[in-house]
Amino acid sequence: MSFASLLPRSAIPGIVWPPIPGVMAARVLALLQQLDRSQWWPAAELRRWQSKQLQALLDHAFGSVPYYREDLHDQVTAELRAESMLERLQAVPLLTRAAVQRAGERLNSIQVPLQHGALATLSTAGSTGRPVTINKTQLTSLIWHALILREHAWHGRDLAAKMAVIRFVEDPARARAPEGLHQSGWDTISHVLYETGPCALLAIDTPVREQVQWLQRENPDYLLTYPTNLAALLECLSADQAPLPRLRAVQTISEAFDPDLRARCREVLGIDVVDSYSSQEVGLIASQCPTCAAYHVHAEAALVEVLRPNGAACRPGEVGRVVVTDLHNFATPLIRYEIGDLAEVGEACRCGRGLPVLTRILGRVRNMLTLPDGQQLWPRLRNQFFAEVAQAPIEQIQIVQKSLQQIEIRLVCARLTPEQEQRVARLLCQALGHRFDVAFQYCETIPRSRGGKFEEFLSEL
Ligand SMILES: [Zn+2]
Repeated sequence: MSFASLLPRSAIPGIVWPPIPGVMAARVLALLQQLDRSQWWPAAELRRWQSKQLQALLDHAFGSVPYYREDLHDQVTAELRAESMLERLQAVPLLTRAAVQRAGERLNSIQVPLQHGALATLSTAGSTGRPVTINKTQLTSLIWHALILREHAWHGRDLAAKMAVIRFVEDPARARAPEGLHQSGWDTISHVLYETGPCALLAIDTPVREQVQWLQRENPDYLLTYPTNLAALLECLSADQAPLPRLRAVQTISEAFDPDLRARCREVLGIDVVDSYSSQEVGLIASQCPTCAAYHVHAEAALVEVLRPNGAACRPGEVGRVVVTDLHNFATPLIRYEIGDLAEVGEACRCGRGLPVLTRILGRVRNMLTLPDGQQLWPRLRNQFFAEVAQAPIEQIQIVQKSLQQIEIRLVCARLTPEQEQRVARLLCQALGHRFDVAFQYCETIPRSRGGKFEEFLSEL
């Protein structure tokens, strides 16, 4: 592990060396040490331990959570003791976002073990309808932080370096340009555990040009942001020929990642992008492998199934619905939670880690394009051509399907000429595979949904 040379912070007054970490930090360190080993276990061994933890979760859920104990109990009692993990899992019906909303408080345990720590309630991004509200425990955030540290180790990140973060913040007024918000460490645990470098934070709704100016002033070693924001930053940076001399790598989170972005970042900044897959409900689900571009599922925390429409498991190379079981949330157990994303299953990785592999994560199901014949498909948008046609920077773009025949293009940019609009409409229809009626709308800004997700393609059907 690349942190082996780092000493943790000492929590005991007067004790400098060897340092004695505080209780939380000691637990994260103990977890990190185990995660460092278990990543190399064979896949079967990882599944064996997942199965044991799943049983503990099922016992807890069917013992203390009204939704499982009362609503599902009669359907699934016998299967919950089945020999194979798969049979036990498949006995539990999929938990959709709608089901979470319907179950409400009934999905919360009435007896969370005290040792799981304080509860925190969170509402997650939902651009349609009511947001999903669940409880998490202090223990789930502890595991999240250990996984983040493992990801830092995978990519050899220098914890003493300076991090810049451009993302959704609850109170954007605190992280506004031109200054942003300055913190003394990267995040709570890495700050409590190790002495990290400083972190500068900027609200994601800052205009891209101001973001670039802010980045140049901050001159960070690492940048963390959303893929769509990175794409906009790269446009602006290349147009301005604005260098960021110290920047060593970019981390992206929270959105579908287009592989073209990796090449674009290499071209403009000469550095790599590392993407990770997380959700507020479940935490860090998968991170990019340091050896190849695929994602490794953090199997010690999340049991991920990728399913065909008929509910069978996808084979390598197939794309299916992502269904996640959070193995450690005993406050609102999410068992077989259909998170709303699609993923492609990958073959075992040549790096030797036994952690399951996802080759691609294809964003959200609610953003699928529907053709007039009812066929749904993932729209692969080449946003590059908008800027080429306009011959001017496009700050933001959102494509909205208004009906089976109508598409609206929302743009934040100088108004296009009628000829340019026609050309963009033609290229878009080619990319989407159907002659839609295309309308243009020019906006000051296109807001993000709560939670910071930017809906690049929005379906209002
Ligand atoms: Zn790997």
